Amino acid sequence: MEPNYRRCLSCRKVAHRSEFWRIVRVYPSQTIELDQGMGRSAYLCPQASCLQAAQRKDRLGRVLKVPVPESIYNALWSRLAQGQEGVKFDTENHKQAFKGTRRQGADLTPAN
Ligand SMILES: [Zn+2]
Repeated sequence: MEPNYRRCLSCRKVAHRSEFWRIVRVYPSQTIELDQGMGRSAYLCPQASCLQAAQRKDRLGRVLKVPVPESIYNALWSRLAQGQEGVKFDTENHKQAFKGTRRQGADLTPAN
């Protein structure tokens, strides 16, 4: 694998590390941190299917060889929820703006 490329522990996809969430078992405290800290790391796509698989089958805990606290999963789920709502919100706004423009254009056509 090329430098800085990592593999998702759920779907096995390989991508640059910046595209993944990084979950770290910090050395030597053995606590689990997100994004920061030195220690054994696991990588996960920022998407529901991979997070769900990691949690349901406890893949994350197995990769890191320590129990993963619920709070870590909760933090990732809330990140996901925030990100998705942002995207959905933007898309709907764009669609509405687009429809509005079209309707106005259609109304104007007979006058021309
Ligand atoms: Zn994945």
